Parts: sequence; structure tokens; C-alpha cells
Amino acid sequence: MPGERVLFLFIDGVGLAAASPSNPLATLPTPALRALLGGPLTADAVGERPGFLLSAIDAGLGVPGRPQSATGQTALFTGKNGAVLLGHHATAFPGPQLRALLAEHSIFRRAAEAGRSVTFANPFTASYWQALEEGRRKASASTLAIRAAGIPFRDLDDLRRGEAVTWDVRRDLFARAADPTLPIVADADAGANLARLGGRNDLTLYETFLTDLAGHHRFGLHVPDAVERVDGLLGGVLAARPSDLTVVLTSDHGNIEDASHKVHTTNPVPLLVVGRAAPAFAGVRSILEVGDRILAVLGVPGETPRER
Ligand SMILES: [Zn+2]
Repeated sequence: MPGERVLFLFIDGVGLAAASPSNPLATLPTPALRALLGGPLTADAVGERPGFLLSAIDAGLGVPGRPQSATGQTALFTGKNGAVLLGHHATAFPGPQLRALLAEHSIFRRAAEAGRSVTFANPFTASYWQALEEGRRKASASTLAIRAAGIPFRDLDDLRRGEAVTWDVRRDLFARAADPTLPIVADADAGANLARLGGRNDLTLYETFLTDLAGHHRFGLHVPDAVERVDGLLGGVLAARPSDLTVVLTSDHGNIEDASHKVHTTNPVPLLVVGRAAPAFAGVRSILEVGDRILAVLGVPGETPRER
């Protein structure tokens, strides 16, 4: 499909479950999601119409236990099943075997090598890169994949120009570590900035861990706040989305949709697609299949010639 663009919203720790009093996605306001879905983001909202698709897709990777971030994100970004490779789900930051998959097989690399413009909307600070260099922090799956693809990272200058969107959407949490003078931004305006980036690149990745962190009750993050930010961001994206941009939102595993505990769930995750390429995502059953469908929308050929 020449001329199509994709904005890939990776939202950590969001599963799709039935409506219930313990499902915050069913009970919180989520105005943007409700306007789009005609109701909350629950299993009841699954369906398809022109320019829209919502599926419940499996995040279990065929391996017992609760799905985890490193293997889930590797699946989303490469289509490769690192959980089967390792024999288990791997938490948090990818180790050597997953790093190799992310370096070699990411959809970002494959799109860039096919001549598509690819960008990562999240900004990073000099101190983040220094902490990685010094081993005080570990690189996420996204960062590893983007770096291996040779795609430049956005920074605070990009952010001040409105050409980046922080992981916390609003910049207030990001600013504490990065630069306390950074002005905060309305969630919808962050979404509009993201839609603008999406309209200028063939493939744009944005990621947030807000939802997963809130589901784990970490860093003082609360589920209603995390959901409000993500919903506001999505609303801004959809309001500003150019017609050639298809928005693909999905997750690596469930968490936030079950407030009865603070660990991951084995629920499916939502695959929410808005835009004219939505039919290209029909029939996706697993987080392993999302990446190849994105590449197909971008007209990037399959990986077979690269396999060795
Ligand atoms: Zn988690």
C-alpha cells in the first residue's frame, strides 16, 4: 500500500478483559476511547468497521506463566518468539539472546532498510545515554531495536519544538529527571504533536510504560492518572490524524485491566487500529503478528531473504 504511514503506539501492560468492577478500563471515564468505541475498552468492544478494528490478541507466546515485558516487546518489535527461544517469559530488559533478535530482525530496521522513514517519537536525555554507557541503566527493547537500526534518537531540543512526546505524555514526570524548566503539555496537545510526527514519517513508534508501572503500583503512579494520560494522548492523536496515517495501538501483556492484584495478567491484549489500513490487521491473533502486518501496510517485503 504505497503512501501509507503507520503510527505504532506501544502501551505497556494493557490487557483486554470483560467489563467488571475490578477492571479500571471499564470503570474510569476514558472519554477518547469511549467516543471511538462507543463504550469502554473491554472485550465487548471487539469489532470491525471501515477505518476501525479492535481485536483481542494473545500475548502468551505459547509458553506457560505470566507474559513479561522483554519477551513481549521483542515479539511486537520483531515478530520473533523469544519466549520459546529462552523457554520462558523474560521480564523487563532484554538479555543477550533477545538483544540479538532486536538488533537483527526489528520492523524498524527492516522498514529503514527498505527505504522507509522511521522515527522514535520519545525523547532521551544526555544523562540517560550516559547512564546506559556506564551500566547504571539498561536499555529497553525499543531503544535497542531503534539503535541497531541506525535511527537517530530525539532529544530535548526536539521536545521543546513539539517534535517529540515523552513517556509520561504530560512531561511533568519526565521533567523531574530531565529539566525542571520544561513546560508541561496537555495530553491532547502531546497527541497532536505525535500525529504530526506520524504524518511526516512512514513509521513512527511511541511507547509509554505509564500503564504498566501504575498497574504494579510503582513510582507512585496511580492507575486513574496513567489511564487519563494515555486516553488524552489518544484523543489528541485521533483528532489530528492525517488521512494517510493509520494508528496501531497494542500492548505486550495485560496488567492494568485487573485491579485485583498488581502483577501481569494472562488476558489477551487489545489490537486497536484506526485509519484506512485497518483491514490489513484483520485476523491477527497474536502479538507476534503485528509487526509483519505493519510492514505489509508500508509495502516492505517479507524477511525471508535476510534469514541466515
Ligand atoms: Zn510489568
